Amino acid sequence: MPSAHYQPLVPRADHDQDHEHGHNNDDDERWTIETDVQSQSNGRIRYHPQLAEELPSMGGGMAASRYGRAGNSGYRRFVYIMLILLPACFLIYFVIGPQSQDSEDADGDIDPHNGIGKRRHIKLSLTTTRLTTAHYHPFHATIIASKSTHGSIRSMMGHALNESLHICSESHEDRRLYIGDKPRSAYAQLPVIYFVTPTYPRREQIPELTRLAYTLLHVPRLHWLVANDREGCDTFLDTQINGFGIPYTHMASPMPSEYRKAKPAPRGVANRRAALQWLHQHNLTNGVLYFGDDDNTYDLRLFSEIRHTQRVSMFPVGLIAEYAISGPVVREGKVVAFLDSWVAGRRWPVDMAGFAVSLSYMAQYPNVNMPYKPGYEEDLFLRSIGLHIDQIEPRGNNCTEILVWHTQTKNKKSAVVRLESRYMDERSNLGALFRLLERMGVARASEHEGPVATISKNGKSKSHAYFLS
Ligand code: UDP
Ligand code: MN
Repeated sequence: MPSAHYQPLVPRADHDQDHEHGHNNDDDERWTIETDVQSQSNGRIRYHPQLAEELPSMGGGMAASRYGRAGNSGYRRFVYIMLILLPACFLIYFVIGPQSQDSEDADGDIDPHNGIGKRRHIKLSLTTTRLTTAHYHPFHATIIASKSTHGSIRSMMGHALNESLHICSESHEDRRLYIGDKPRSAYAQLPVIYFVTPTYPRREQIPELTRLAYTLLHVPRLHWLVANDREGCDTFLDTQINGFGIPYTHMASPMPSEYRKAKPAPRGVANRRAALQWLHQHNLTNGVLYFGDDDNTYDLRLFSEIRHTQRVSMFPVGLIAEYAISGPVVREGKVVAFLDSWVAGRRWPVDMAGFAVSLSYMAQYPNVNMPYKPGYEEDLFLRSIGLHIDQIEPRGNNCTEILVWHTQTKNKKSAVVRLESRYMDERSNLGALFRLLERMGVARASEHEGPVATISKNGKSKSHAYFLS
């Protein structure tokens, strides 16, 4: 596997991709993925020059030369005033500007999935972080990347967006012998599906990913990108994913802390952005991208339907919001409109699970982006790849079938059970069982907290000592 240098999506005050196609104009902030060719060498990732550090020194240098040129006190005063005014103008433009722009479409927006709650606007940050160093070990590839602020005049004005991406492990080897009723080799010519799963630590995480993995085991030519919303790698999850034998990349890509408190929060955005970056860094221009959340339900026919996507495929998603359905309206084999209970100005009112994109098509759009804007992730992503309605390929028998369901699992706090620690040894299974549950984030045994564990036989509960001592 080649080495990879990961850089975050970098903001650009560019135009909408649609300008190229002569479609509607947008005034959303453009972000782009930048590749740093310099930073890659000899299979290792080199340290990146710290632009953030250079900038203050640049600023200092500029100020010094201006002082040097000031021949009289009037000129000096002018320089002082300008030094105060200029940053103030930048501040007003970048801090107040985007907010007021956002507030124009803020009225009465509703959470697209629950159909409740007002959408809160989050000002797009003007600073991104860039990942600079990485230690790369082939085979069980581990990239530990550190981050530094990406420097630019604009970024100096905004607050830092703390994006980071760590590759925990990856495997490009498919260890499955048979898929469906055929040997793996029978599928060698198929384009690869890059199945991007954002996930986050919670009691239901391992069960959700287990169920999903058993679906994906039936899908040939698939690379599973599992992007975990947490700092650092979960070694338990690592082993689990690796055990399935599906080609995969496991990465840690936490939501920037400034978004964690937001309501609604941009769920799974940092992870999907990390996956986009991974695809970009690998220069993949063949295959199909699909965003598959960890809690949805996937019909195996979905994968054959999206496999040969030319540009963008679309299809209905069941169990979305008020109508329990969201998807394209199709007439004479063409997508002409969309059915979705939450429009809110979205040109593409579709769910994340309702489309797939060919990588060769996406590669033509260097400004591909998924911004941190809850409810608008799909719309803005599809806008960033210059989609036009005529180009959409309706799937699932002209969008008459449901190949994916937006199922949701009830979230509960992880459990605490009171069990005497002196019995958590090898005399019974309970010690090992609770240590496993704790690693999974499902439950833990405690000496002093939680309800006392009931252990019974023949309908009668007894003290722990009765069975365990
Ligand atoms: N997710 C995440 N971080 C979070 C919340 C959610 O990575 O803080 C992931 C989650 O595992 C799922 C996707 O983002 O794959 C969408 O989240 P969720 O299913 O909770 O939202 P829904 O779209 O169903 O309302
Ligand atoms: Mn979900």
